Amino acid sequence: MSLTNPTPGSGEKLLDVSGLRKAFGSHEVLRGIDLSIERGRVLVLIGPSGSGKTTVLRSINGLEIPEAGVVTAAGGIRVDYAAKPAKKDILALRDRTAMVFQHYNLFPHMTVIENIIEGPTQVQGVKKAQAIAEAEALLERVGLAEKRDVYPFQLSGGQAQRVGIVRALALKPDLLLFDEPTSALDPELVGDVLAVMKELADEGWTMLVVTHELAFARQVADEVLFMDGGVIVERGAPRDIFTAPREERTQQFLHRIL
Ligand code: ADP
Repeated sequence: MSLTNPTPGSGEKLLDVSGLRKAFGSHEVLRGIDLSIERGRVLVLIGPSGSGKTTVLRSINGLEIPEAGVVTAAGGIRVDYAAKPAKKDILALRDRTAMVFQHYNLFPHMTVIENIIEGPTQVQGVKKAQAIAEAEALLERVGLAEKRDVYPFQLSGGQAQRVGIVRALALKPDLLLFDEPTSALDPELVGDVLAVMKELADEGWTMLVVTHELAFARQVADEVLFMDGGVIVERGAPRDIFTAPREERTQQFLHRIL
């Protein structure tokens, strides 16, 4: 089975987010976020810790319910958070987007294969035999076929994260959301995970990636968004953002981490 996204590079707007606002108590974490992604494109979201990057991903996935903002996605999905969206619309959004988490979030009491087939069989109604066959093919692709029946604690961080990626792919989403997928890994394990992500990008998957791996962003992103204080301060092609950032806050951030 190929990892290939069925219709890459069509120019179709796959996701549109406008006016996203979220506060935790009196702390305004998102103060009006607008972004959109065309099918087959890779957006990388960078910015200091606490700037709201994870909250943007979680709001797109319906894991966080913001006070305001409209998220539209392929297939006629429209969630208007200010208008108390129906649960079924949030579930539809979640079904079309799949999240890869910083700490993998694998179910500890399930084997690798059980982790991967859980969503397809329990949420999407895929037959177990078919889900297993697809999961095995995906595991093969990321070099983890022999880990099929082990438990998460028996995996290295890099292996666990590749299982996390396979689990997201098994849902056949339109959009892959990556929340700092390599920041919990030992440095020598980062490369394997980034290599899988690069392969997915090359194959036309649509991806929104939060990461501090600027070399990856430079190589893989179509567009880089710099966030600070709950707003997108600057956006553009990687070579522009990294070599000639216009905004002082972007310059300071890059200066600190480069
Ligand atoms: P980033 O991903 O850029 O580090 P986050 O989106 O994780 O930023 O967090 C933005 C801010 O929101 C931080 O100050 C964080 O402490 C706060 N925050 C995130 N989730 C919660 C929550 N569930 N309750 C209270 N504050 C939160």
